[in-house]
Amino acid sequence: MSNSRILFAASEVYPFAKSGGLADVAYSLPRALNEAYNVDVIMPLYQFIDRVQFGIQASGETFNIMMGNKSYPVTLYICKYENITYRFIYTPLLCDREFLYGNPQGGYEDNDIRFALFNYAMLEIVKRDIYEIVHLNDWQTALLPLLLNNEPKIETKSLFTIHNLAYQGVFEKKALARLGIDEKYFHMDCLEFYGQVNFMKAGIAYADKITTVSPTYAKEILTPEFGCGLEGFLQYHSGKLTGIVNGIDTEQFSPSTDKMLVSPYTDLRGKAVNKRAFLKEIKLKDPKRPLVIFIGRFTWQKGLEIFIDALPDMALMECNIVVLGDGEAQYHDALKTLANKHDNIYLKSGYDEALSHRMYAASDFFLMPSLFEPCGLAQMIAMHYGSMPIVHSVGGLTDTVHDYAAFDAKSQKGYGVVFSQPDHHACLDAVKKALLLYSMKTQYNQIVKHNMLCDFSWRESGELYIKEYEKLKEESQRG
Ligand code: ADP
Repeated sequence: MSNSRILFAASEVYPFAKSGGLADVAYSLPRALNEAYNVDVIMPLYQFIDRVQFGIQASGETFNIMMGNKSYPVTLYICKYENITYRFIYTPLLCDREFLYGNPQGGYEDNDIRFALFNYAMLEIVKRDIYEIVHLNDWQTALLPLLLNNEPKIETKSLFTIHNLAYQGVFEKKALARLGIDEKYFHMDCLEFYGQVNFMKAGIAYADKITTVSPTYAKEILTPEFGCGLEGFLQYHSGKLTGIVNGIDTEQFSPSTDKMLVSPYTDLRGKAVNKRAFLKEIKLKDPKRPLVIFIGRFTWQKGLEIFIDALPDMALMECNIVVLGDGEAQYHDALKTLANKHDNIYLKSGYDEALSHRMYAASDFFLMPSLFEPCGLAQMIAMHYGSMPIVHSVGGLTDTVHDYAAFDAKSQKGYGVVFSQPDHHACLDAVKKALLLYSMKTQYNQIVKHNMLCDFSWRESGELYIKEYEKLKEESQRG
């Protein structure tokens, strides 16, 4: 183990706070890197995090942040959880909220101040404590490279990971003054974005390296179709951009040890026990029918329109369908209407970690018709639990799910049913193919057993992050 210290920052980290895959990555990647480096994870101490349960204690450090012309008090907290040191920033304006970022209808209007405070507090920490590298994740942490740019005495290098370019942290120009950011940064090569302030751009402009969460997404974001208006800016900075596919934590998601399951399993017979129990729990009939599930945020990104258009026809097929998700009301309402109409559709709205695990274990197919998908973890979790993904080939789904027609038992690839047109006709065709495959038991079983044995862990991708860190250390030594 090298004694290099890394500060890994994210606005959500499992099990403390989670709204999606970022929290899973912020939990599992530091664990994968912790043998090679000394990794501390840092996040906001939201008021809903249970301090007693996790043994979170004040570290004794407090300071004030002067931002704009206001002063904000900060208290630092700390805990050790599963061998990782977690550092927490507590300041009331950032942390005393019901939700992480806002409700599904929109973000909090002072999110610029909230997350700028997170970045200023981290700056204070790297001034006091030696970290060779800060590894930053998404727009909520993207100001730090700019703040470091203003501090020539600090030698810390920065790596900025883009998990989802669709969320950039864009605010009105007046944010500049209240965040205490010099007007000199308000130009198109930096923060300025169509007259507004864009946090993501600060990360892209000033980080020493940029990664994103799959090789295909790294290419896609350089195009107008997926670049969310930043394609030109990213092309300019593409020399420091690499795509590294995410892994899953195979302890957190392990069918053989998963405490959230009725009966943990290692084979398809054991999986069938979970399927029967689950169908009984939600009162769906006929365990012999293939079970198709959807778990995800109810947003345009996740292909909700495709899914909702395909559902009436899917419901007429010989299958059961279970949906778990949280998000926009229009999608929720449409799904609710369909679930009320068809007795083979079960809908649970909300966020429910334990239910999601029981669903992965019970399912035969995992539907993911995303319109764009930076990486996606759910399809890998599904394969690991012996379920077959049905995916639109885009972003990380292209890198992690290969079409079953090209199945090769000797490969280390995961297989599913892949469709290439982002519409409900293509989705329905894929579901039909999947159900036909399910009826060919030997072939279906061979593929899902293969998927269960594939390595979706951080082993390979962790090595790629280590390479990036080592390059940063070399740059730092060269001065
Ligand atoms: P994203 O980060 O875009 O939301 P990912 O596929 O990368 O999508 O990660 C989603 C993670 O969140 C997975 O672990 C998935 O199981 C979980 N998840 C998503 N929605 C829910 C929900 N409503 N309840 C429980 N877990 C959920």
